[in-house]
Amino acid sequence: MPEIHAARRDRLQEVVAGLGADAALITSLVNVRYLTGLASSNAAFLLPADGPGVLATDSRYALAAVRDCPEVELAVHRLVEQALAGRAAERGLIRLAFEAHEMTVERHATLAAGTPGVAFVPLGRAVEELRTVKDEEEIALLAQACAITSAAFDEVVPRICPGMTERDLAAALERAMSDRGAERPAFDTIVASGPNGAIPHHVPTGRELSPGDLVTVDFGARYGGYHADMTRTIAVGEPAAWQRDIYALVAAAQQAGIAAATPGADVAAVDGAARGVIEEADHGQHFTHGLGHGVGLEIHEAPIMGHGKTGRLRDRVPITVEPGIYLPGVGGVRIEDTLVVRAGAETAVPRELLTTTTRELLVL
Ligand code: ZN
Ligand code: ZN
Repeated sequence: MPEIHAARRDRLQEVVAGLGADAALITSLVNVRYLTGLASSNAAFLLPADGPGVLATDSRYALAAVRDCPEVELAVHRLVEQALAGRAAERGLIRLAFEAHEMTVERHATLAAGTPGVAFVPLGRAVEELRTVKDEEEIALLAQACAITSAAFDEVVPRICPGMTERDLAAALERAMSDRGAERPAFDTIVASGPNGAIPHHVPTGRELSPGDLVTVDFGARYGGYHADMTRTIAVGEPAAWQRDIYALVAAAQQAGIAAATPGADVAAVDGAARGVIEEADHGQHFTHGLGHGVGLEIHEAPIMGHGKTGRLRDRVPITVEPGIYLPGVGGVRIEDTLVVRAGAETAVPRELLTTTTRELLVL
């Protein structure tokens, strides 16, 4: 997809020129991947406001860079940042916009000492901002990641039974995703049973699932670098009335959040639409996190929908909607889907659900 990466670089060049900088030094590995196509654990990218860029990586990734980024000049170095700052100085690119949110104080000091003629100015989260709105190729990769996730869940659910441990269930889900082509889990799989369900990011243990448990599973596949995110809560054995009640409440809150997630919607209003349902039922204090987040090359990225967050949803922005109710010492429910906000006359609906597993309470 060389032309897609070139289009992304063009958009960043407009930002760099607008800042009055001569070039951007991109050091976030995810952002380097977004702009060049190279996935590497040691890479940086120098992009002048005008003209072609230079990709630096070390010898371990040189062949992959030649294969994946044939249209970009390659510099093979171990010290990628210093090499590119040196190139910038040689070319007279002396106002260099850098990713301050990613740079450590120590690395910045090394760079500044090594290139005394260069002024380092903040780029801000310009690439993250560009990444928020996805192109159709990205949405297709994310949709595939979500399809793998939904299919893995549907395969594993019939095998869930009392005596299975949280770790067994996590391993079964990860195996099913791998069998369907996932590169790896998008994040550490969460399986939280019984009282553990009150801990939103519980780490799976050897606890055995038992009748009367609600079990929350939060997991996803990574495919082509893109991260799916889905949560379902199931009942082992016939659920008690209180369990059905909080499940219905979370499901209603999620529906309200999804309905509010339209192009132009304020992220605080989307959060509020779901949170209001839970607050009206006097469970506001038990919904302890934000409503959702963007997904893409990272599992958590802009826009974040939660307390004090600002901004508006836009066309082609994938997000999660994931309300929950957590009762300390008792248990919890969370329901989460990944969806894409859509605008334009060609789409009949203002959003597209990518995780398709049923949201009805499954009783096993
Ligand atoms: Zn999740
Ligand atoms: Zn999530």
